[in-house]
Amino acid sequence: MGFLNGKKALITGVASDRSIAVGIAEAFAREGAELAFTYQGDRLKGRVEDVAARCNDSKLVLPLDVTDDAQIANVMQEVEQQWGGIDIVIHAIGFAPREQLQGRYLDAVTREGFAISHDISAYSFAALGKAARPLMQGRNAALLTLTYLGAVRAVPMYNVMGPAKASLEANVRFMAADLGSEGIRVNGISAGPIKTLAAAGISGFRNMLASAATASPLKRNVTIEDVGNTAAFLCSDLAAGITGEIIYVDAGYRIMGMQFPEEG
Ligand code: NAP
Repeated sequence: MGFLNGKKALITGVASDRSIAVGIAEAFAREGAELAFTYQGDRLKGRVEDVAARCNDSKLVLPLDVTDDAQIANVMQEVEQQWGGIDIVIHAIGFAPREQLQGRYLDAVTREGFAISHDISAYSFAALGKAARPLMQGRNAALLTLTYLGAVRAVPMYNVMGPAKASLEANVRFMAADLGSEGIRVNGISAGPIKTLAAAGISGFRNMLASAATASPLKRNVTIEDVGNTAAFLCSDLAAGITGEIIYVDAGYRIMGMQFPEEG
């Protein structure tokens, strides 16, 4: 019996087999959760259905573009019809127009790029929280999002995604404060760099990977399995006392002040 047995979880953000959402879905399935998935755009439908099939043979796969409130409402309605309620929502969605993630921040940022990045990467978490709230009552429910160090440190090329992730992390705290009295927990995982489709849009991403592996205490990059296992813990009743937190799954990179000389 897994530690998510009996939990019903909605997973957003599967775009490929390498998506962080896939690492989360596989850990959730292993721990006994029942899963529903969303996909953005018909081109991804088949791929998400394949992931769903291998995750406890999930049949609930629904379209969702988070910029559209009607689609968010439709997802919650379908989930309510099928399940009657929901225990876990995973928000693994981030987006900035490609040209925003090149060159220097002030050269790249525009009013429109800033607005789109914040809408899709930060507001959408609050939007999902608002919509899921009535379905989460009386269930020790949990919401979880994915963030990155660029929220709190300046990172080359991450540009407007830094302010967007800072807003997302503030969302975690405000949502946790709002929902705590209803027994609903809200947390974020700040993951180290992982090669996914979204990451490929950041110019110089390979340098981010190499520098994270070299400078981290564990001397490696993290995997979607590392993130998935932490997500499973955070959304389970094992983490019943944790809310409003950003948990770093980054091989320890964030704690380093300076690189230590090699021993021997
Ligand atoms: P990914 O596989 O490309 O997933 C990003 C997901 O966001 C995709 O499924 C994408 O769908 C979806 N998305 C974008 N715009 C959307 C919209 N309007 N409505 C619904 N979905 C939308 O990349 P990932 O790295 O796993 O990203 C998942 C989360 O982890 C993101 O928040 C990302 O910022 C965060 N994160 C990633 C890393 C990393 O290094 N990879 C590190 C820390 C945090 P489409 O493909 O159809 O656009």
